Amino acid sequence: MASIAIETSALCKTFEQGGATVVALDSVDIELREGEMTLLMGPSGSGKSTFISALGGLQAPSAGDVLFRGESLWSLPERRLNQFRREYCGFVFQSGGLFPSLTALQQIAIPLTYVGVSRTEAVEKAAAVLAEVGLADREDSLPGEMSGGQNQRVAIARMLAKDPYLIFCDEPTSALDSENGAVVARLLQRTAHERNAMILCVTHDERLMPFADRVLRIADGRIVADIDQPADNPRSATQQQQTRQQEPSKEGTL
Ligand code: ADP
Ligand code: MG
Repeated sequence: MASIAIETSALCKTFEQGGATVVALDSVDIELREGEMTLLMGPSGSGKSTFISALGGLQAPSAGDVLFRGESLWSLPERRLNQFRREYCGFVFQSGGLFPSLTALQQIAIPLTYVGVSRTEAVEKAAAVLAEVGLADREDSLPGEMSGGQNQRVAIARMLAKDPYLIFCDEPTSALDSENGAVVARLLQRTAHERNAMILCVTHDERLMPFADRVLRIADGRIVADIDQPADNPRSATQQQQTRQQEPSKEGTL
């Protein structure tokens, strides 16, 4: 089996709203693996965004914890929590969050210069990730000159430029038509496989299912289904084979 990238332990989140308590996450225990694109699906209000924000170090849970490399994320001091987000996490949100007045190349290169990358290196890196998402010819385009799908690919390229180990996407295809949604989903799955990254992708779009290695379903803040996708992609097939091969030797050592 692939290694665990990050996990939750009895993760709970409640909100007080007009005197009532809303339970957004109800004691979630889940392990997310590296090298896999996991979809988190569920109806509106089921806790998907809250789950991402607790795992990505954006919003503290009410109880329980997130464990990353043996450490309790929500016991870390603020400075180390910021470091966790900066060094390990990448986020892609529904709207893409691009700046209207910057070209595709600038959207990616400018943030890199803020974290100390030289201008030349930042431009080279930006060009490389744009090529990776199939937009080498759109370096100089502004968001208003591109389709929704192309803009969402720029947002993904910007995230990839950081090369994050943990990638969190919140409804990244909800503003796209099926064709563009499929392009983005395929790109995310390829990223998980090629970079051995953990991708958690929130969606309520069933059309993304063929691109996932694993599908989690959430309802009322609880994980109600956890399904490894059948091996219709080469990587899943390899993984299952490795698991089978490991089993006898594992038993032997016990
Ligand atoms: P989803 O992303 O699946 O649509 P959310 O995680 O955004 O769901 O929300 C889960 C539940 O928590 C909902 O009932 C929502 O109204 C509530 N909730 C989320 N954020 C807040 C907040 N900041 N204040 C009050 N209630 C919230
Ligand atoms: Mg949401």
